[in-house]
Amino acid sequence: MLAEEKMNILLVDDMPSKILALESVLADLGQNIVKAKSGTEALRYLLQQDFAVILLDVNMPGMDGFETASLIRQRKNSEHTPIIFITAINTNETHVYRGYSLGAVDYIFTPVVPEVLKAKVAVFVDLAKKTQQIRVQAQELARSNRELEEFAYVASHDLQEPLRMVGSYTQLLAQHSKEHLDAEATEYVEVVIKSVKRMHALINDLLEYSRIGRRTKKLTSTNCEDVLQAVMFDLKSLVTETQAKITHDMLPSVMADNSKLYQLFQNLISNALKFHGNRPPKIHVSATLKDGEWIFSVRDNGIGIETCYFDRIFQVFQRLHSSREYPGTGIGLAICKKIAEFHGGRIWLDSEFGIGSTFYFAIPIEKSPLLNESQELAEMEVG
Ligand code: ADP
Repeated sequence: MLAEEKMNILLVDDMPSKILALESVLADLGQNIVKAKSGTEALRYLLQQDFAVILLDVNMPGMDGFETASLIRQRKNSEHTPIIFITAINTNETHVYRGYSLGAVDYIFTPVVPEVLKAKVAVFVDLAKKTQQIRVQAQELARSNRELEEFAYVASHDLQEPLRMVGSYTQLLAQHSKEHLDAEATEYVEVVIKSVKRMHALINDLLEYSRIGRRTKKLTSTNCEDVLQAVMFDLKSLVTETQAKITHDMLPSVMADNSKLYQLFQNLISNALKFHGNRPPKIHVSATLKDGEWIFSVRDNGIGIETCYFDRIFQVFQRLHSSREYPGTGIGLAICKKIAEFHGGRIWLDSEFGIGSTFYFAIPIEKSPLLNESQELAEMEVG
């Protein structure tokens, strides 16, 4: 069990007798205690392993506790490790402030009160255990998500072939037995063919959805103006048919997978064209920079969505209308959500029923750590 795993505690003091005293107090906690006689030795240990907490003597010959702490903070893998300084009780306040500015989380004054020491260290041990549990759970979740995506990909891919056979043999059967089929039988055949087509569309969309996490390209600086122009060009006939008017503000360049960004814009704009109600669609695309993210918006004057459906519509196969009213498979927005998250961003909407909707998605300027991680994993898969 993970909760039982021992955490490392680092004791740094040049006096063996003081280390011994600390060690005997902390032995009750049942953790793994590592001892260093100098700042240099402590830094060496920090290169090799992670620590739940560091107990650092302020007064050491050579590199003192403050210098050691500042070097600990400069290193990536120990920049957040809690440091408790151990110092004499008569320490003046400026001395204490210096420690805090170097990243100390606490002070323990000598002579050490065993119960206080134990309680303070126990808090950090507990925190480290919980952090580790969360990290393991997140890795487990990412792994099972990848497995699920892989399953969806394989299943939808393998379902296509038998479905194609059902479709083409039904058509052959209908042609072959044309003269023998009465009106009712002909209608049955038509229903089968229509259902095959619909299922084909659903499988294709599911395949598309499960492909998003499988990375094939590196993120590059992508000009959103170009992406939008390409989308508008490809939707030209729909725009003419619906007498739509699409306007847009200046759009920025972002680090993105351009084909995925194209898909995101295309899904949002074609939805805005599709769900237009009685008025010809008026669509406006814009982008604003806020708190390190580009926030894009696609606003329409369509049928609108009731607030209670705001979350549901981003789930796979969730639609608010029958395919007779508005054609579709109910995957478009789930794909948009996945694409936004793939870029380290998010998607949401604002809408007024009967008035119109605005879909927003955010793309961070800096690549998120999550994205880097999934990028590496997927690149490993591809390679
Ligand atoms: P699809 O378009 O295939 O139905 P989506 O996942 O793109 O699937 O959309 C899910 C549902 O969200 C749609 O069926 C529709 O009810 C609603 N919706 C999406 N975009 C809009 C929009 N711009 N205006 C009104 N409703 C929308």
